Amino acid sequence: MSELKVQPTETQFDLFAELENYDHEQIVYCQDKATGLKALIAIHNTILGPGLGGTRFWHYTDEKAAVNDVLRLSRGMTFKASLAGLNLGGAKAVIIGDHKKIKNESLMRKFGRFVENLSGKYITAEDVGTTTKDMEYVKMETDHVVGLPESMGGGGDPSPVTAYGVYVGMKASAKHVWGSDNLAGKTVSVQGIGKVGGHLLEMLHKDGVKLYISDINDEVLQNYAKQFDCIVVPKEDIVGLNVDIFAPCALGAVLNTENIGKLKASIVCGAANNQLEDENVHGPMLLEKGIAYAPDFLVNAGGLINVYSEWVGYNREIAMSATEKIYDTLLNIYHKSANESKHTQLAATELAQKRVADILKVHSTY
Ligand code: NAD
Repeated sequence: MSELKVQPTETQFDLFAELENYDHEQIVYCQDKATGLKALIAIHNTILGPGLGGTRFWHYTDEKAAVNDVLRLSRGMTFKASLAGLNLGGAKAVIIGDHKKIKNESLMRKFGRFVENLSGKYITAEDVGTTTKDMEYVKMETDHVVGLPESMGGGGDPSPVTAYGVYVGMKASAKHVWGSDNLAGKTVSVQGIGKVGGHLLEMLHKDGVKLYISDINDEVLQNYAKQFDCIVVPKEDIVGLNVDIFAPCALGAVLNTENIGKLKASIVCGAANNQLEDENVHGPMLLEKGIAYAPDFLVNAGGLINVYSEWVGYNREIAMSATEKIYDTLLNIYHKSANESKHTQLAATELAQKRVADILKVHSTY
């Protein structure tokens, strides 16, 4: 065997410090030369149950960016499952690379074998860059996968249920800000018209909302613009648009110190995970500006609720009515935020952490 040479890189960082910072249980590096698979599986917390979270396939600029994403996303999953009242922990996986170029059956099945090796501590599902079809390949190697097609006993694409959760979140936010949850005549800008954004447009269009949309994919934009009578906006203008509600439905870290100053919307409510670049800085900034921010891990929980239902015995109606509860939970968080003078992301995190701590007490006694 040739000697292994470790090349020091300028991007070296302290992984244990990162794990400690976010309070993670475990991170798994998966590498397979034959299929080209490079993946990370992060398990944040399994007190409430096995860690369930989708697999993101993305061309990260470097390893640090991938680690940072998987740690933040998996932590969000713990809070999402907790607030939704599910018996699930938080976890997430990322596969590194351009899914349009390197994704194929063998790579996804190899990933499935790594999931299998975790013996059910991690349950995977689809996310950005992966589809129901990919989960079929994963299923060939492990049972620890949800988000399967209906033909395989699954619930199919969870995105319509996620979109429904964002929609009820918008209605609760409207009730909080304007005293009525009727969205007719309101203006909404949607960033990212993918699996969730598309379904959200349909629901809002039915309610008589005036829609503004942006995406990096022009073809997608033109199709939706025609279908739901939307105005297409250049992607750099979408955050600062003069609308009632801004819905980030693309990727995370979309709200930062620079662009929060430009926000004109009264409400931010969208599907993207980790919308705040730094929740400790940008949560308080939104509060100070008087913008109602619907915590992402609360309003985008519909997809998780849907795949959880698949895990315990799929029923779309039960999943939809459980998703509807996001309305009341969000109103409760707006009240907590106002009463305790804290930003909504913190109010929601505290509620989620409280359930985890309470259930830990149950498990530590007999
Ligand atoms: P998707 O990949 O189908 O759609 C994302 C869309 O965003 C794509 O059309 C893409 O072209 C666009 N996009 C990327 N960068 C952009 C940019 N800078 N500006 C404008 N558009 C951009 O993903 P999805 O399943 O619709 O998920 C959207 C977001 O919601 C993701 O952050 C995902 O993690 C989150 N989410 C999704 C679900 C679900 O059920 N699918 C559940 C919970 C959370």
